[in-house]
Parts: sequence; C-alpha cells; structure tokens
Amino acid sequence: MSAYESDNIFAKILRGEIPATRVYEDEETLAFMDIMPRADGHLLVIPKTPCRNMLDATPAQLETVIRTVQKLAVASKAAFGADGVTIQQFNEAAGGQEVFHLHFHVLPRHEGQALRAPGQMADMEAIAAHAEKIKAAL
Ligand code: AMP
Repeated sequence: MSAYESDNIFAKILRGEIPATRVYEDEETLAFMDIMPRADGHLLVIPKTPCRNMLDATPAQLETVIRTVQKLAVASKAAFGADGVTIQQFNEAAGGQEVFHLHFHVLPRHEGQALRAPGQMADMEAIAAHAEKIKAAL
C-alpha cells in the first residue's frame, strides 16, 4: 500500500489551505460538507491525524472517528427529518477511494429516495444552509 501523502485535498482542508464548510470539530476529528452531495446533508468525517484509510488507521484513530460519525449521523437524521442514514467508506482506488485521507460519508436518507449521481457540484449557498441545519441539531 502507498504511504500517506500530505498534499491530498483533505489534508489541505485541515491545514486551512482550502476552504470547507465545517460542521463540527473536536481535538481529534473534523466533519465538513461534501461539495458533491449525493443527498441533502451529505457530509464527511475525518481524523485530524494522517492515515490513508481503514487499512492503515490505528485503533485510536478509528475509535475517535466513528464516535464523530455516530454524532453526525444522529444530528443529520434529525436535521433533515430523515428515515435513515447511509454510512459509506472506501479503501484504495480499487475500493472506490478518490481522496487518500481516511473519511466516512454520512448521508441522511428518505424512504424511497435514491442517492443522486456522483460528481455533481452543489450550490454553495444550499450546502451552507444544510450545514447550519445540522449544526443546530448537534
Ligand atoms: P471517495 O474518496 O470516493 O470517498 O470520494 C471523495 C469525496 O470527497 C467525494 O464525495 C467528493 O465529492 C468529496 N470531495 C472532494 N473534494 C472535496 C472538497 N474540497 N470539499 C468537500 N468534499 C470534497
């Protein structure tokens, strides 16, 4: 497996080099909105320390990230009056991973409503409004 590379886009977000719509953070983890949301409220949770994915993460990294995933899953379900929540996580390119800093997708879901196709940029004002709804539910 390749080594962690610190020029990935989420490392740049962590260093404040590129903007992100932040929803929640604590000492160990950060949650921010996905810019190509496949559902309203689609967000990402990452550890603040470096690892590529589940395959090289330490148990401590996984523990802190999954605690934040749960917190955000509960908040986003409430914020959007969702019926359920999908959690997605991909490992290496062959596993569907595109950004090589461990992240979990949190997707509020409504009964009978399919996910939108991947790769479609959303309106930034809508994303900001969705982030505010989730923050209010936290
Ligand atoms: P994957 O590695 O397959 O889980 O996909 C990476 C995810 O990161 C995709 O859902 C992208 O829409 C999302 N993404 C890529 N760049 C950014 C960014 N600058 N801010 C927020 N989300 C991003």
